Amino acid sequence: CGIVGYTGPLDGTDALDVVLEGLRRMEYRGYDSAGIVIEAGGTLSVDKRAGKLANLEKALTDEPLPSGVTGIGHTRWATHGGPTDANAHPHLSADGRLALVHNGIIENFATLKAELASDGVEFTSETDTEVAAHLVGRAFTELGDLTEAMRTVCNRLQGAFTLLAVHADAPGMVVGARRNSPLVVGRGDGANFLGSDVAAFIEYTREAIELGQDQVVTITADSVDVIGFDGAPAQTTEYHVDWDA
Ligand code: GLU
Repeated sequence: CGIVGYTGPLDGTDALDVVLEGLRRMEYRGYDSAGIVIEAGGTLSVDKRAGKLANLEKALTDEPLPSGVTGIGHTRWATHGGPTDANAHPHLSADGRLALVHNGIIENFATLKAELASDGVEFTSETDTEVAAHLVGRAFTELGDLTEAMRTVCNRLQGAFTLLAVHADAPGMVVGARRNSPLVVGRGDGANFLGSDVAAFIEYTREAIELGQDQVVTITADSVDVIGFDGAPAQTTEYHVDWDA
């Protein structure tokens, strides 16, 4: 259970390197599968594998993802659906334009899944997470705004979740949200980070922001915006990480 998000300047570091390094540093959290998505030029590229991070790294060496400056990564501790490639995160919306990762459990996923299925949505995994990918993808199509899409959907979810999403039509942006599950922002110089804990980005920055309960954060290379699930601007706590990683 680890989550990493990164977005940096167009001429900057390859997101794949930053995200993989973050996942390596969170290996201590334990996991059974790992996956990554890179957003570049209006396209999402995903690779995800059951097993150790080394499996994913080998697959990426054999067949590299296109380079990009925005990406998210996930290590999974399976709760709903076994540790398979299909159940590994990220999960995609039906149109393939949105990718989402999740730590935690969406308690009301069965109700949401039945609702989506009756509307013709086909599921490709057994996870509770996939409902969130479909819902945020559909909300984006309706609202045209990734932050609002995430916020609207979070208000329908019950349980514990840290979610991160990227959308092919929202280039250079990562949106995160949290309820009963951790999410920390790392503020860099022309690049910003999200992580389950500061280990995800400690190599790059020590300026962190702890998110509160029921908050949504939107990062671009040069901005960090936090709102509550109610849409109001949120209070956050900034701090400097002074321990050695
Ligand atoms: N409940 C989700 C799943 O089983 C996320 C598990 C996790 O926290 O890694 O896929």
